[in-house]
Amino acid sequence: MKTLLTVIGARPQWIKASAMSRVLQRAEHGMQEHVVHTGQHVSQEMSGIFFEELGMKAPDTQLEVEFDPARRMGQMMQGIAASISQVKPDAVLVYGDTDSTLAGAWAASRAGVPLIHMEAGLRSFDRAMPEEINRILTDQLSAVLLCPSEAAVSQLRKEGIFTNCRPGVLVQAAGDLMLDTACWIGGEPVSRVSNGNKVLLTLHRPSNVDDMDRLRLWMEAIRDTICQQGLVVIFPVHPRTAVALQKAYGFEWDLILKDWGIHVQRPAGYVQMMEWLNEVNAVWTDSGGVQKEAFFRHRPALVLRDTTEWTELLDVGAAVLSPEPKGLMRRNADLMARDFSQVFETNLFGDGHAAEHIAAALQAWFQK
Ligand code: UDP
Repeated sequence: MKTLLTVIGARPQWIKASAMSRVLQRAEHGMQEHVVHTGQHVSQEMSGIFFEELGMKAPDTQLEVEFDPARRMGQMMQGIAASISQVKPDAVLVYGDTDSTLAGAWAASRAGVPLIHMEAGLRSFDRAMPEEINRILTDQLSAVLLCPSEAAVSQLRKEGIFTNCRPGVLVQAAGDLMLDTACWIGGEPVSRVSNGNKVLLTLHRPSNVDDMDRLRLWMEAIRDTICQQGLVVIFPVHPRTAVALQKAYGFEWDLILKDWGIHVQRPAGYVQMMEWLNEVNAVWTDSGGVQKEAFFRHRPALVLRDTTEWTELLDVGAAVLSPEPKGLMRRNADLMARDFSQVFETNLFGDGHAAEHIAAALQAWFQK
C-alpha cells in the first residue's frame, strides 16, 4: 500500500480533493491518504461545511497558522515538513494554486519526496496574481503533473517541463476533478429559464477588492446594470470582500447593497452554490472555480478579470472577460443576446470520472 500525504487548506481545494478522496477511500488502487489541513481557511463556512457536504473524513493533521501571509507560509511549510517526517509518505499530493499548494510543494521538495500536482499546467499569464506564481513554482517542483485539459498539457510542453524535471516525470490530461464533484452533487444541468433575470456574483480577487476605489466602481457598475437591465443579483460574499466592503461603505454595507438589489449572502456551502447555479441565467465572477462550474451547469459567465487560466471557456464562447467595471453593462447585454444552444455541448473537462483515471495513472506510475 502506497501512502499519499495530501495537503489541502483553502476552499477551492475541498471541491477537488473530495473527488479524489472518494476514490482513494475504496483502496482499490493500492493507495491510502494522510490528509494535512494547513489551516489557511478554518471557519465553518469556508471549511467545515464542505467536509460535511462532500463526505470527506476529518483531516489526519490539522495545522494552526496566523493570518499574515508571510508568517503563515513559514508555519505551513514547517507543519507539512513535520508531517512528512512523521508519516514518511511515498508522495505528496497538492491541488491547484493556493499558498497551501506552494507550501506543500516546497516541503516535499526539501524532503526529497515526489510531488504530485493536480490541476497542473494552468496559466493566466498574469504574474501579479499570487496564484500564477504558486502554479508555476509548483509545476517546476512536480514529478507527476496531472492536467485538467489538453490545453494545460500543451502549455507544459511549451515551457519545456518534460526536460526540466527529473527523469520519470508523468504529465497527463486526466480531466477535471471539479467536474466529478459537480456531477456527484449537482446531477445533470437544468435548462436556463427563458427571460430569467437572476445572476450569481462572486468577487474576491485582491486586484478587484483590495483597492477601495476599484471596489466601489465594481459595486456601482453592478447597481447600475441591475437597474438598467432589471436583474436580481445573488452575492455570497467572501470574508476578504466583506472586510473590504465594510471599509468602503461602513458597518451598514450589506443594507446599502441590498437597497441596490444585490442580495447579499454569507459564504455558501457547495450544495447551495449548485442550487443557485441552477436558478440563475448568468454568472459574474472573478473566481477560477466558479467560472468553470458555470460551464458545467450550462450558464454563461462574465469573468471580472483581464485574464483567465481557463482560456478554453473563452475559446468556445461560454465565458467573456469583463475586466473593467464600466464595461459590465454592455458586456452583460451582449452576453445575454448570444445563442448558447451548442456552446455547452463541447467536452472541455473530461467525463466526470477524472478521479478514477488519476488513481489508475498513479497506480501505474508507482509500479514503474
Ligand atoms: N464556493 C462556495 N461558496 C461560495 C463561493 C464559492 O462553495 O460562497 C465554491 C465554488 O462553487 C467553487 C469554489 O468555492 O467550487 C471556488 O472557490 P473560490 O472562488 O474561493 O476560489 P478560486 O476558484 O477562485 O481559487
